[in-house]
Amino acid sequence: MDLAFTQDEEDFRRRLRAWLADTLPKLPDRPHPADWPGRRAYDCGWQRMLHDAGYAGLHWPEDAGGQGATPTQHLIFLEETERAGAPYVGAGFVGLLHAGPTIAAEGTPEQRARWLPPILRGDEVWCQGFSEPDAGSDLASLRTRAVRDGDAYVVSGSKIWTSHAEIADWCELLVRTAPVNADTPKHRGISWLAMPMDAPGVTVRPLRTLAGTAEFAEVFLDEVRVPVTHRVGEENDGWRVTMVTLSFERGTAFVGEVVACRRVLEALARTAKANGRWDDAVLRRRLGRLAAECAALWRLTQWNVSEAQRTGGVPGVGGSVFKLRFSQVRQELYDAAAEVLGADALDAGQEWVADRLSSLSYTIAAGTSQIQRNIVAERILGLPKGR
Ligand SMILES: Cc1cc2nc3c(=O)[nH]c(=O)nc-3n(C[C@H](O)[C@H](O)[C@H](O)COP(=O)(O)OP(=O)(O)OC[C@H]3O[C@@H](n4cnc5c(N)ncnc54)[C@H](O)[C@@H]3O)c2cc1C
Repeated sequence: MDLAFTQDEEDFRRRLRAWLADTLPKLPDRPHPADWPGRRAYDCGWQRMLHDAGYAGLHWPEDAGGQGATPTQHLIFLEETERAGAPYVGAGFVGLLHAGPTIAAEGTPEQRARWLPPILRGDEVWCQGFSEPDAGSDLASLRTRAVRDGDAYVVSGSKIWTSHAEIADWCELLVRTAPVNADTPKHRGISWLAMPMDAPGVTVRPLRTLAGTAEFAEVFLDEVRVPVTHRVGEENDGWRVTMVTLSFERGTAFVGEVVACRRVLEALARTAKANGRWDDAVLRRRLGRLAAECAALWRLTQWNVSEAQRTGGVPGVGGSVFKLRFSQVRQELYDAAAEVLGADALDAGQEWVADRLSSLSYTIAAGTSQIQRNIVAERILGLPKGR
């Protein structure tokens, strides 16, 4: 892996830095975390600005409407936008970071033409309908069924923990299209559908999180008709397509947040110097160790991104190593923040308190740490399957 920057990459950094310096002061304030429609409008507005300036889908292939940028340019983009304090991907998370890349990799030309441009322009928001009650880690046990009726599937069942369901236009939905029996093991009878969230029969019931906001929801599906043309991949081959989605989710979707961790660390060091906590050598060592962890995660990120490029654009199981460590470091970071801030850690009005509470969910979302360890053990270390 060559980590030196080429002249082109340095030029790209300079242009982006100048654009950010010119553009960010014109942005309105970000809406309150509980205002989801406001957040959607804000995040989509930012995506439109990126699109119009030629920065949408930097890491997507050109034939999918992306910029075909090098992995290094993508990392420069993440570094520079974070350094400048630009908005994060927000409501565009699922569409831009895993549903879109899955459609780009597995969709037909018609599907790519229908769904990818609105994601890149910030016109349409996606959510992910994978988890169900009793089918989270054991995702292949899902029971939501889709029965073929002419040119449509009739879908019934329920999903849970669906982030951004309330404000989404589309859902990447996993359904059972073949019953489980001796001939069809549970992984074989699944299909991956794009479901419009405004279709008759879709009911969204928000769930409140520890941080007090309703960022995810239960989704109930009562005989929802989804055209067969909305199936990505072959019927009953959805598990393979799902592995593509999950490899994007674990491999590259959280990358921007690693840079954000470095910004949080810098802010913590400044606060500790201002409030006297910096005199505590144990705390200083703790922050220093976290700085080393963040630097290591950034190197791992660079390795994963260049590996994905080398192997044709889909991230490999190295994403599980990243997801495992990243989610733990994020929690350790916010634990250290509580120590630096002392009594201020109880001030619910501070945004970082919400960030700390949400950091607890990172070792569960997108596959728990136990599941990532199983993947690392079986697929990287070649150890025997636990069960
Ligand atoms: C903030 C957040 C956002 C989310 N957003 C979405 C979303 O948008 N869309 C979506 O579909 N889902 C979403 N999820 C759901 C998430 O993917 C699941 O919660 C996760 O996969 C775990 O599944 P589960 O909750 O059913 O737990 P379970 O599978 O019941 O696991 C319970 C515990 O048992 C452990 N365990 C289970 N099986 C094994 C095993 N084989 N070996 C070792 N340990 C095991 C788990 O690690 C865990 O500790 C979100 C979750 C969170 C927290």
